[in-house]
Amino acid sequence: MKATATPEKLQFRIKSDIYIRMKTTTFDVRTPSRDAFIDITREVQRVVSGSGVTEGAVTVYVPHTTAGVTINENADPDVIHDVLAALDNAVPWAQSFYQHTEGNSAAHVKSSMVGCNTTVPVQGGRLTLGTWQSVFFCEFDGPRTRRVVVTVMGQ
Ligand code: ZN
Repeated sequence: MKATATPEKLQFRIKSDIYIRMKTTTFDVRTPSRDAFIDITREVQRVVSGSGVTEGAVTVYVPHTTAGVTINENADPDVIHDVLAALDNAVPWAQSFYQHTEGNSAAHVKSSMVGCNTTVPVQGGRLTLGTWQSVFFCEFDGPRTRRVVVTVMGQ
């Protein structure tokens, strides 16, 4: 395998006639409150479209310990309300057994529950999300400015 690095992308030659493109892009998200889900599907699709990859996959990664990323319903906003309420109910902000002195243990727990990355297949240059699915940045200790890292891989 031969790898060639350029400032914009990395290509791996895995067969004589097949090249896999990789491109990583970051963008920022301003979150409005302590707990919030922000639909970032449009930004992720913009990165995929700009990469030139038509067949492959995209990973969406959040480099934070009190935030996450997930895929869920985009049609009825009550779904996101209920997910946030259920997480809050399962992991209350204040608990007598918390030891972390920063005071945001609930946000760390929620981050681990939701996870800090997700992957979506790309076909025809588009995210293969279902009709009612969106990619959401999950804030658990806002409001803040957060970072999202998107890596597109494919042909
Ligand atoms: Zn902390």
